[in-house]
Amino acid sequence: MSDLPVVAIIGRPNVGKSTLLNRIVGRREAIVQEKPGVTRDRKLVEAEWTGRRFMVMDTGGWMPGGSSLDEKVSRQAEKAIADADAVVLVTDVTTGVTEDDARVATLLRGLGSQVFVVANKVDDPARESLMWDLLSLGLGDPWPVSALHGAGTGDLLDALVEVLPQVHVDGPAGEGEDAPGDGAAGFEEGRRVFSVAIVGRPNVGKSTLFNRLIGEDRSVVHDMPGTTRDAVDTVVDTPDGPIRFVDTAGMRRKSRIDDGTEYYSFVRALQAVDASDVALLVIDANEGVTHQDQRLGERIDAAGCPIVIVLNKWETIGAEQREEVTWQVGQRLAFLGDSTVLKISALTGKSVHRLLPALADAIEAYQRRVPTRRVNEVVAAAQAAQPAPHGARILYATQGATDPPTFTLFANKTLPAPYLRYVERMLREAFALGATPIKLRVRQRSS
Ligand code: GDP
Ligand code: GDP
Repeated sequence: MSDLPVVAIIGRPNVGKSTLLNRIVGRREAIVQEKPGVTRDRKLVEAEWTGRRFMVMDTGGWMPGGSSLDEKVSRQAEKAIADADAVVLVTDVTTGVTEDDARVATLLRGLGSQVFVVANKVDDPARESLMWDLLSLGLGDPWPVSALHGAGTGDLLDALVEVLPQVHVDGPAGEGEDAPGDGAAGFEEGRRVFSVAIVGRPNVGKSTLFNRLIGEDRSVVHDMPGTTRDAVDTVVDTPDGPIRFVDTAGMRRKSRIDDGTEYYSFVRALQAVDASDVALLVIDANEGVTHQDQRLGERIDAAGCPIVIVLNKWETIGAEQREEVTWQVGQRLAFLGDSTVLKISALTGKSVHRLLPALADAIEAYQRRVPTRRVNEVVAAAQAAQPAPHGARILYATQGATDPPTFTLFANKTLPAPYLRYVERMLREAFALGATPIKLRVRQRSS
């Protein structure tokens, strides 16, 4: 446990640190304290994201200068922060940058810590514009998050684990385990369980489609606690292998979301997308591609998730309208590139059988994330076959992003360009990336 990298969560009281911590750790027990300014002990809890394990440290009421704790505790907290591999500075967009935030930022800049500034309480996209104030902290672009609803936390965690040193730890939460809620890292006896989020505006036919997909002739393998509050993920056996539908409980228990606003389902959809490998964006062909469909598409795309576009209720429209809607997809969802577009009727079942193969293709085509362990095996083999010159060494590597596959190499020294090309070639061959462009990023780190 002590070998795991440490992420410190800091920030003023009441900005949402505990809520975010719960989100990251994925525990259900409420450890949020409603009272502002409650001083808590530092606590360390273990967390895991896409197969990467780390410790999260909540520094409680710590503030530089010891405003709420005595000096000794404050010094300890400062040392803990200086020693952390990354720091998440949580701020509250609804109050903006305060003097305390600025003081913490100054301290962090001085420490040279790897900092993620979180603009918390962005419960509504309209609040996103407020976060740009945080640029004044001089710690880079802020990450919009709603710790309460979970929106944005997936992106944050993706970026966070990417900067953490890679440690090889075998254990129950490691790669290879099909632990619930582990999103992109689910494997089952070497076979991958794809996670699928069905998203779309209300009434486009998501539940109908979901019911159609799980069908009478398909067995629901199991329902497991999902990654989002109140969610139950459903794993379904299909001819193409098991598929996990993320956060689909709301669809089957309609009443639970009916009282929510449209925005609530938007947030929920994004949460589901964060935990999925691929999203089914369901559009009501009868209404065409609306502004909200566009917005949802943009957000899914930004989350780095491949999309299969479903034009539902296709049977309700005539030839002319069909042409119009197809044109709209090309125009209004152009940013989705050549995502597969399926024209179906969830109600009658027409063409629904084309969905599962399309999902599998989308995931493949997107060159899904290669497990960090495999990346490191390939890099180690490449270095064994041909070491880099002048004692340069890649300490560890990880695929930080997909589309295009982007690998981050952490090295002790500068790696010469020809060597990088060699490593790139090895990665390309090992993961059958074909003509797909690959990006390599190199970060220097002392060994
Ligand atoms: P801490 O003192 O920084 O640990 O803050 P808490 O996690 O205890 O949260 C303080 C309050 O803010 C609680 O009432 C939370 O429910 C609320 N809160 C936390 N995150 C969010 C969020 O994303 N949106 C909203 N609206 N409230 C939040
Ligand atoms: P959700 O809110 O996105 O989950 O939408 P529902 O699945 O509840 O569907 C909303 C309405 O659209 C219901 O009355 C469905 O029967 C209807 N519906 C769903 N799919 C289709 C379809 O393919 N064709 C037609 N004509 N109606 C559909």
